[in-house]
Amino acid sequence: MSKVLIIGAGGVGNVVVRKCAMVPEIFTDIMLASRTKSKCDQIAAAVGGNKVKTAKVDADNVPELVALINSYKPDIVINVALPYQDLHIMEACLQTKTHYLDTANYEPIDEAKFEYKWQWAFHDRFKNAGITAILGCGFDPGVTSIFTAYANKHYFDEMHQLDIVDCNAGDHGKSFATNFNPEINIREITQRGKYWKQGQWVETEPLEIHKPIIYPEIGPKESYLLYHEELESLVKNFPTLKSARFWMTFGEKYINFLNVLQEVGMTSIKPVMYEGREIVPLQFLKAVLPEPSSLGEGYKGKTSIGCQIKGIKDGKERTYYVWNNCDHAECYREVEAQAISYTTGVPAMIGAMMVLTGQWKGEGVFNVEDFNPDPFMEMLNKHGLPWHEEIDKPLPVNQ
Ligand code: NDP
Repeated sequence: MSKVLIIGAGGVGNVVVRKCAMVPEIFTDIMLASRTKSKCDQIAAAVGGNKVKTAKVDADNVPELVALINSYKPDIVINVALPYQDLHIMEACLQTKTHYLDTANYEPIDEAKFEYKWQWAFHDRFKNAGITAILGCGFDPGVTSIFTAYANKHYFDEMHQLDIVDCNAGDHGKSFATNFNPEINIREITQRGKYWKQGQWVETEPLEIHKPIIYPEIGPKESYLLYHEELESLVKNFPTLKSARFWMTFGEKYINFLNVLQEVGMTSIKPVMYEGREIVPLQFLKAVLPEPSSLGEGYKGKTSIGCQIKGIKDGKERTYYVWNNCDHAECYREVEAQAISYTTGVPAMIGAMMVLTGQWKGEGVFNVEDFNPDPFMEMLNKHGLPWHEEIDKPLPVNQ
C-alpha cells in the first residue's frame, strides 16, 4: 500500500504515471501534479478508471508544494518536472518527511551548469529527517550508473575505463526537435565538453571530439563526446577509473540546425529586450519547437544506450559491454510515448519501487550507484527495458 506523487506532466511524466499504474500491487494510489492541470487530466484519462488523481502545482513554490504533499500524504515524490525545480521539491520533501526521487540534477536557470553540489548539500538534512533522496534515476543518468555498479560488483576487481554510449537512431520526421525538454537539452549539448583522464577533468570545445561508434542492431553512428552529469558521481564512487567519457549520437541535419540557431543567438540564455519586455531567446525557441511528448506518433527506429568498460579481473584484462535497445514504435504502442521518455520514465518508476519495497534503503541523499544494482537490473527486464551483455569481446568504442 503506497501512495506516489508524480510532479511534471510532460513526456517523461506520462510514462511514469502509466508504468506505475501497471504495478497496482505497489503503487496503490497515484497523483499527478503539474503547472498545467489539463495535461495531468489528459494523462489520467488515458490511464482510465479514475486510477490517477490530478492537481495543479507550481513546483517553484515551496509552501504550495508542502500544502499539496500534506493534503495527499504520498510515501514518495517522483520529480519529473525540470531540473530548476529540484531544490524546491527537495525542500518540500524535507519539510514533510517524504522520500524524493528525480531524473536530472539541479542547474540554475540563469547559468547552464549542472553539478551535484547543490543537491548533495541536502545530505545531512535528509539523514536527520530519516528520509531518502535518490538523484538521477532515469536512463542516463540512472541505468547507466546502475550498469556500471553491476559491472563493478560482478565482473571486475578494478574498473579502469568507462565509456557511456548513447545512440538514438530514431526518426521522428520533424525538421528539428529535441527528445526531452528543448531548453534543458540544448543547454546540455551547447556547453563545453569534459571527460575524465588520469585523475583529472579535460575540457573540450562543444562537440569538438567525435567519431563513428558501432551500436548493436543499428551499425555505425557519428558519436560526440559530451559532459554528462553521471560522470561526476561515477568517478567519485569508482575511484579506480582512469578514464570516463560520455558519447551521444547526433545526425548531420540536427547539428546544422543547432549551429544556425546558435549563430543567430537563439540558444542564448541571456535575456534580450523584445517589444518592451525581457525574453530569453532559448525559452522562446522552446515555445515554438515540438513538445517531446508530441513526438511519439510515427517515430521509427531504436535507441541503444549502454556502458563499455575495461579493467582487471583475477589479474587479467577484461572488457564488458552492457546495453539496452529500445524501439520508439513499441513504446508508442505501449504508452503513447517515444523511447527517450520511455527509457527515462521506466527507471524512475523502478527506483520508486526499490524504495517503497525496502530493497533500496538509506537515510540521506544518494546517487543510484550507491545501492545494490541486482534487484533493479531484474526489474528492468520485467518492465520493458531488457538488457544484454558481452564479456571479453573488443569494445566498439575502441575500434
Ligand atoms: P517536458 O518539457 O516534456 O515536461 C516537463 C514538465 O514539467 C511539463 O509538464 C511542465 O509543465 C512541468 N513543469 C515545468 N515547470 C514546472 C513548475 N514550475 N511547476 C510544475 N510543473 C512544471 O520534459 P520531459 O518530460 O522530456 O523531461 C522531464 C525531466 O526528465 C527533465 O528534468 C529532463 O531533464 C529529465 N530527463 C532525464 C533523462 C534521463 O535519462 N535521466 C532523459 C530525458 C529527460 P508545462 O506542461 O506547464 O510546461
